[in-house]
Amino acid sequence: MDCVVCEKPSGYNRVVVELESGVELGGLCVRCETEKFGELGDELVDHDDQTCVFCDRDGFWALPKWLPSTYESEGRTVSYVDYDVSTTGFQLCDEHLSRVGVDDLSVPVATDAPREYITRSTDD
Ligand SMILES: [Zn+2]
Ligand SMILES: [Zn+2]
Repeated sequence: MDCVVCEKPSGYNRVVVELESGVELGGLCVRCETEKFGELGDELVDHDDQTCVFCDRDGFWALPKWLPSTYESEGRTVSYVDYDVSTTGFQLCDEHLSRVGVDDLSVPVATDAPREYITRSTDD
């Protein structure tokens, strides 16, 4: 997944998701997050409105953080990353997402491709 701002591989920092559809637009790398949102970072953790963090419009995009998790499988600890759109307060409207440098807000066509887990093997 590439960063929506600099278009380089974003790693597992944040993902930009269209709230209504759940379709991922792309990632947001640490460098661009710091550059564009650095001063907001800490406040956003406690921001639980369903509105854009910069204005009063409804959030159209969510930028949840990838969170490392682990589970036990056959005596081994398997680690993976996941995110939860419903619990993130980091939401942006169209205008403010484009203002951080995202030119193309057209979401990719939804696919059924599995998420890019680092490692994952589960039976469910
Ligand atoms: Zn970037
Ligand atoms: Zn806004």
